[in-house]
Amino acid sequence: MQTTSVTASPARGTSAPVRRRLRVRGVVQGVGFRPFVWELAHRHGLAGTVCNTSGSVLIEVEGAPPAVDAFVADLQADPPRLARITAVDDAEVALRGEDGFRIVESLAVEGEYQPVSPDAATCAECLAEILDPGARRYRYPFTNCTACGPRFTIIEGLPYDRARTTMRAFPMCSECRAEYEDPSDRRFHAQPVACPACGPRLWLTGADGVEVEGDPISVAAEALRAGEVVALKGLGGFQLACDATDADAVARLRERKRRPAKPFAVMVTDLDAARALCAVGDAEAAILEGSARPVLLLRRRAEPSPIAPQVAPGVADLGLMLPCTPLHHLLLGEVGRPLVMTSGNVTEEPIAKDNDEALDRLRGIADRFLLHDRDIAARYDDSVSRVVAGEERLVRRARGHCPLPAPLAGMDTDVLALGAHLKNTFCVLRGGDAFVGPHIGDLDHPLTLRHQEESLAGCLHLFGAAPQVVACDLHPDYASTALAERRAAEWGVGAPVRVQHHHAHVASVMAEHGLRGRLLGVAFDGVGHGTDGGIWGGEFLVCDEADFQRAGHLVPVRQPGGDLCAREGWRMAAAYLCAAGLAGEVPPPWLGEGGPDERRWRLVVRVAASPTAAPLSTSAGRLFDAVASLIGAGHHSTYEAEAAMRLEALATGIDPASARAYPVAMEGEPLRVDTLGLIRALVADRLAGVPAALLAARFHESLAQAVAGACRRLAGRTGLRRVALSGGVFQNALLLERSVSLLQESGFEVYANRTVPANDGGISLGQALVAAARTRAAGTV
Ligand SMILES: [Zn+2]
Ligand SMILES: [Zn+2]
Repeated sequence: MQTTSVTASPARGTSAPVRRRLRVRGVVQGVGFRPFVWELAHRHGLAGTVCNTSGSVLIEVEGAPPAVDAFVADLQADPPRLARITAVDDAEVALRGEDGFRIVESLAVEGEYQPVSPDAATCAECLAEILDPGARRYRYPFTNCTACGPRFTIIEGLPYDRARTTMRAFPMCSECRAEYEDPSDRRFHAQPVACPACGPRLWLTGADGVEVEGDPISVAAEALRAGEVVALKGLGGFQLACDATDADAVARLRERKRRPAKPFAVMVTDLDAARALCAVGDAEAAILEGSARPVLLLRRRAEPSPIAPQVAPGVADLGLMLPCTPLHHLLLGEVGRPLVMTSGNVTEEPIAKDNDEALDRLRGIADRFLLHDRDIAARYDDSVSRVVAGEERLVRRARGHCPLPAPLAGMDTDVLALGAHLKNTFCVLRGGDAFVGPHIGDLDHPLTLRHQEESLAGCLHLFGAAPQVVACDLHPDYASTALAERRAAEWGVGAPVRVQHHHAHVASVMAEHGLRGRLLGVAFDGVGHGTDGGIWGGEFLVCDEADFQRAGHLVPVRQPGGDLCAREGWRMAAAYLCAAGLAGEVPPPWLGEGGPDERRWRLVVRVAASPTAAPLSTSAGRLFDAVASLIGAGHHSTYEAEAAMRLEALATGIDPASARAYPVAMEGEPLRVDTLGLIRALVADRLAGVPAALLAARFHESLAQAVAGACRRLAGRTGLRRVALSGGVFQNALLLERSVSLLQESGFEVYANRTVPANDGGISLGQALVAAARTRAAGTV
């Protein structure tokens, strides 16, 4: 979002020349901003200077007042594609009588910092150049300019100059230098500028790390067409590629990566290739072709599809991505088929980023390695997003989006928030800008913990942040909570601010949308630690940015086996049947194939019926697991939310209008939203032979109606008309779309996550807002 505030616009006469100093803040470095200013000043016939400082771009212009005014207006109206101006401070200064307009040396300013541009996909000009046999960068995989190329993944320090990036190892040749110094060239001050004569080099090796002869891209393309798995060094780390149309190759990659079913992303050459596989509307096309280049989840076209079924089994969407670097363009062009493109790691580990690391960690997965000698400074996965209810919503926020800040107006305390345990991210709040770091992953693995430490150290250094407050989750056993305690002790800043999980989810929506004051929050997810020590996950809150009240929740049900229920959904089916008074001694025969045997069922039913043997849980995620099992859409999950995704896929073909909702009763204070009537009705339908797809659709509709109904009740009690929806369960497009429209029909203003994920990847932003708000309220900093 571009917000522009012009301050102190001075009054002046009409004809005498004036000189003005403009300090432009936002993402204005590494995006061709100075050449743009230079060109603009020339166009308006103005004299003066422009330079980068550690915190902004500083411009002084001098000339006739109308020309200066026009310059200032154009500056803000039409900045370079990758620039994001957040503020322009404008002041009149003494005339100097200068001649001409110059770009001058960067100024390092102690204590200042500068939002850096994310990495940007290859622009049309650079793409044309690498495909032009007459150009000196023909087929050169590291071609870039001020409108495209690597940024945050190569930056080691600020201000952003080549000497503070991993490109400093490559002195420019005279031809590149000439482009770099020519203000009329699109590579003017493009820090990563390079060519075959002076820049990074690409090579191909076998699994043994020994270089293979021949053109590395052609040989790699041949290997891919022959069904091999190739590891390639991308922008933020290694990716693993194989032929997405080759079932055996995909199955091999799954087995080697130890990823049995979680969908893989697919890279295709261009928009037409994407349209051949999936439904691509205008909004989706703009995202696919945009500079961030995420993996975009798209609805598949009806079969038959050339994509092997093993790529994304059992789900309605396919994740597609267009090439984001010249290397990807060249490789896709030669292979001529869609490629699986997935993170270069073994499941649960962070993405590999260095050559030696990749050869070591990806041995046994990849048959070939496409390597190069430009180091990656920061480890970044591909981002993942989806268009739901008319808006792009990030599911994983990383390359192309980090580190764009979220402005938190009025929150002046510097905060470090350490996020949740799964899908961990951290957030550094600095001078009112919240920088959410890249997707780190689940903090169970020692390599992931190290990745978190490195990434955090890098961000604190780049932004010159010295947080006065540390924030974390309420859960005592999260690794992020332990990290927060250690950091707070190291820095001597007092005990961490503990933020309840679902309050943080709702606060992440408040942070994104600039919402302040009391509102209704609905947080549906798998699990979060409640203030009563219980398992929460189907929560209705009345909250503001500092505090919350639990105003309602889904009816608590036993969770027999604790966390195991997320993987073995049939346990929740048994628990819901117990709670609804429907469970027998043996698994009901209509449960179908793949369920538990009698012995395990009996054991679980006994545990579920006992008031002491299993914890109570209000988790909406576990409700999805139960329903998936009850309607025969899967009794197990091999990755998070697999059952819920299958359920959504099943319901997708059904017109929501035909899916009558089951009754959901609600009463009490806090409001108890009773889903047991829903379960009884669903089971009766199942016994009556209603098809699974319609059951899945009726379940989604029931839950959306329950969300809207509960909000109407709570609005009656509180008078609140704003609702924020968050939590991983709201990544379900059907549920989010129906909930939003039902709430809007009831007159609510509805908000949901867009730029940070609704899942636990967005928690750190919410924690930062809550901690800053509490600190401000307490007046302690
Ligand atoms: Zn370019
Ligand atoms: Zn060169």
